[in-house]
Amino acid sequence: MELYRTLFIEFSYLVASILFILGLKGMSHPETARRGMHLAEFGMLMAVIGTLLHHEIVSYEWIIAGLLVGSTIGAMMAIWVPMTAMPQRTALSHAFGAFAAALVGIAEYYQHGAALGQVTMTALCFEVMLGALTTTGSLMAFSKLQGLVRGTPMTWKGQNVFNMTLLAATIGCFVYVLIVPTAATIFYVMIGLAFVFGIMLVLPIGAADMPVVMSLLNSYAGLAAAATGFALSNNVLIIAGTLDGFSGFILSILMCRAMNRSMTNVLFGAFGSAATAASTDGQQGDMREISLDDAAVQLAYANQVIFVPGYGMATAQAQHIVRELAETLEKRGVSVKYAIHPVAGRMPGHMNVLLAEANVPYSSLYELEQINPEFQSTDVAVVIGANDVVNPDARDNPKSPIAGMPILEVDRARSVIVLKRGKGKGFAGIENPLFFKDRTGMLYGDAKDSLTKLVQAVQHA
Ligand code: NDP
Repeated sequence: MELYRTLFIEFSYLVASILFILGLKGMSHPETARRGMHLAEFGMLMAVIGTLLHHEIVSYEWIIAGLLVGSTIGAMMAIWVPMTAMPQRTALSHAFGAFAAALVGIAEYYQHGAALGQVTMTALCFEVMLGALTTTGSLMAFSKLQGLVRGTPMTWKGQNVFNMTLLAATIGCFVYVLIVPTAATIFYVMIGLAFVFGIMLVLPIGAADMPVVMSLLNSYAGLAAAATGFALSNNVLIIAGTLDGFSGFILSILMCRAMNRSMTNVLFGAFGSAATAASTDGQQGDMREISLDDAAVQLAYANQVIFVPGYGMATAQAQHIVRELAETLEKRGVSVKYAIHPVAGRMPGHMNVLLAEANVPYSSLYELEQINPEFQSTDVAVVIGANDVVNPDARDNPKSPIAGMPILEVDRARSVIVLKRGKGKGFAGIENPLFFKDRTGMLYGDAKDSLTKLVQAVQHA
């Protein structure tokens, strides 16, 4: 009987691991992402069932209570948290996951203490340290994104030295506990320091850089889970944690690359602070305002229109009305495409998720490299709450803070209509020469309002 139980547990873990890998693969494309998520969910179910059959479990009451509370919170978050709040929701989930890993490690140490071997102790200390710093780091990321804490980078003199000293002290405790495993006080001091370090790590980073930070914290949480797997000799935790750890790390690198910034710059550059923002102010000329009717006529009589969504479309929740405008234009024989920048918005795939929610067909979405050559032959490019991702300075001005960042070359279109509320800057806090060009018309107002009026105006054009 015992043999069958062990075999079933290992089998469920194997199936779970395969499903996690297939799930990750599925998420590499919007079309297969939903299936990927379902595969990963099923994998998680297999892993939970396998774990529940472990013979070490003596009573199920607390486990069932935990499952009920966790599932209720999870379901409520899934149902009620709006799409625009997805980044902070993810930060909160990371905090929960990391805290769980830290608690498991603390419980193991409390129960077995110095009796744990050197290898297990190393894994356990890793788990607790990474778990603790990821918990507070993710909570800080959540607070910044939710506006509970000021979103701009908080910096002061000697900050990096202080943080490095804190990290060194935490690692010092880590090493001490490995040499003297009975030093419980040092073990708990290490956890306390790691909690503080998590906060200090995220404080100097601006809210808009949080997605990169979160993906990095996600990779820490994954590594903490893998360390938990080593501490508990649990194969599925080792595999899932490693997958999570490395996919998070790769995602952070890809996001940095899409912004043409180094990881060090994101973590220590205090991007978006007043000093950075001031560096390129002083743009010459005026922005030309365009009337709603003019914009409607341009669109209605165009052959090809490219929509370029950005963060403003997300805040205005304008994705549904964007699709409506596209359909209205298509009915008139206009060819409509959507240009998607990899870091438009505030999280990877932000625009893809919103447009998919509005049932925009995937075949109409074009990546940067595919669409850029098309702008030249496009009659109208409609910029919907995007700014940095269409800033030609990134291409033309080597002194710009965003120099080298790949952009959507909207300025090459025959005419450009920009939908934004006013003269507000984008995430990088810099002026955008596109808005001052002769061929650019500014249609001021909330993106959703402007688009709603445009749909009606195009129908009557
Ligand atoms: P930006 O943040 O550069 O610009 C958004 C623009 O939207 C603003 O200029 C604002 O102007 C306008 N806006 C805001 N609300 C509304 C509204 N309700 N209606 C109409 N317009 C509105 O956005 P982009 O998407 O162009 O660029 C994303 C930036 O975020 C990049 O710099 C990228 O590097 C950064 N980033 C992205 C990450 C990601 O994973 N996607 C991660 C980290 C950073 P106004 O106030 O005048 O309306």
